[in-house]
Amino acid sequence: MAGENPRQAAMRGDQWERIRQRLQSELGNATFNSWIKPLKLDVKPDGLVVIMAPTRFMRDWVNSHYSDRLTLHWRNEDAEISRVNVELGTGNGELHSIDVLKADGDAIEIEAPAPKVVQPGAKASSPVDTKPREAENEVGAPLDRRFTFENFVVGKSNELAYAVARRVAESSEVNFNPFFLYGGVGLGKTHLMHAIAHHIRQRDPERRVLYLSAEKFMYEFVQALRFRDTMPFKQQFRATDVLMIDDIQFFSGKDSTQEEFFHTFNALVDHHRQVIISADRSPQDLDGIEERIRSRLGWGLAADIHPADYELRLGILQSKAEKSGNITVPDTVLEFLAHRITSNVRELEGALNRVHAHASLVGREITVEMATEVLKDILRANNRRITIDEIQRKVAEHYNIRLSEMLSARRARAVARPRQVAMYLAKQMTSRSLPEIGRRFGGRDHTTVMHAVRRIEELAADDAGLNEDIDLLRRMLGA
Ligand code: ADP
Ligand code: MG
Repeated sequence: MAGENPRQAAMRGDQWERIRQRLQSELGNATFNSWIKPLKLDVKPDGLVVIMAPTRFMRDWVNSHYSDRLTLHWRNEDAEISRVNVELGTGNGELHSIDVLKADGDAIEIEAPAPKVVQPGAKASSPVDTKPREAENEVGAPLDRRFTFENFVVGKSNELAYAVARRVAESSEVNFNPFFLYGGVGLGKTHLMHAIAHHIRQRDPERRVLYLSAEKFMYEFVQALRFRDTMPFKQQFRATDVLMIDDIQFFSGKDSTQEEFFHTFNALVDHHRQVIISADRSPQDLDGIEERIRSRLGWGLAADIHPADYELRLGILQSKAEKSGNITVPDTVLEFLAHRITSNVRELEGALNRVHAHASLVGREITVEMATEVLKDILRANNRRITIDEIQRKVAEHYNIRLSEMLSARRARAVARPRQVAMYLAKQMTSRSLPEIGRRFGGRDHTTVMHAVRRIEELAADDAGLNEDIDLLRRMLGA
């Protein structure tokens, strides 16, 4: 293959470009920019490809989350390639390599020089001060002691943000600058930032960590302007090793504050100090923030937190309930809350606290009925359309059968009855027609659904147990 070098290289380059474009449309801009864009392609004289990630963390993350996709796309381009696996060294003179496994099974390991991981050493526009830290407590906001990594429950929706936060907290080098954390309200951004601060302060008390809200930053800045003395202001920020500014969307439209923030930011980044920023949206989406700042904010690593799914909501509730001591909250109530309160974690916590408070004040037992009553307003706000899917899942869970059995042709009573209950609820709780419901239950006829609905009505008339089941299911589903 040697000798075809330039042509091979150009061909690989084109393939990689096509793959990148496909990945961008599949993964979306934010994910693409964080993980795929920084990857570099190198082509060896024999036509083999080397994909390099600039940091170990990035390599691991790409390998565990995107290697299947990368492989798939590469194989589309070249059927000879059976697997693509990014493997990098630490960056300090160590070699980076990637295995490209040819279809015949020969592993070929290629080594490539390590790409630079250090920040570009541009000259600082304003020098970073190295004075002692006495100013820190004046501007920094206090940290919430409960906001630790230990108290943070990890699920699919926040695993990336959590992993990067831990990485930033544990590493004494600056790998991602800035670390940009974004997501909707009440999803744990502030919690993670405080957790990073706690961790660093504990591990390395010498490192100067400063956490504050964007609002506080602006307040301090305006104060400094008023007294016509911005030097101390500048100095105290530039003397930090780790600067965290929370809810930066607050800077929107506030031009001079943005300007000042940008100088501080650049000075710190140029000196390899860690900057951590949070916002309610991605850097690109920060309207009212200057374009050059937005683009600069996206240079590091952006990680988003999505709304928690059911499992995570339940996990968070269980963890909070465990810690809250003497009042026990039954599992059914936790499940009920996890099902019904979907907006954000803060509301979820609020609901649990309210139920708690009510139970201890009024001395009432905590039940689903009681929670329904106490949380009427929150529940209403969280109301949503119920799908046949959810009904099937919830009913299967309740009767401890598999979802596939719900849709199967099996007629054993242990499966047929729950199936009828699910059909009944689907008829009651959704606006789907009988034929539609039948289709969704493994392609059954609408008369089967009709029969199921009647049968359950009949049975429920004098079966208190069944009645209770239906009642509970309905509440779990959010009627
Ligand atoms: P944000 O800053 O994103 O608006 P917060 O960090 O203030 O949200 O989180 C709101 C509340 O929810 C806090 O009490 C926080 O401890 C809690 N919380 C959020 N996510 C989690 C989680 N994954 N595990 C445990 N508690 C969480
Ligand atoms: Mg917050």
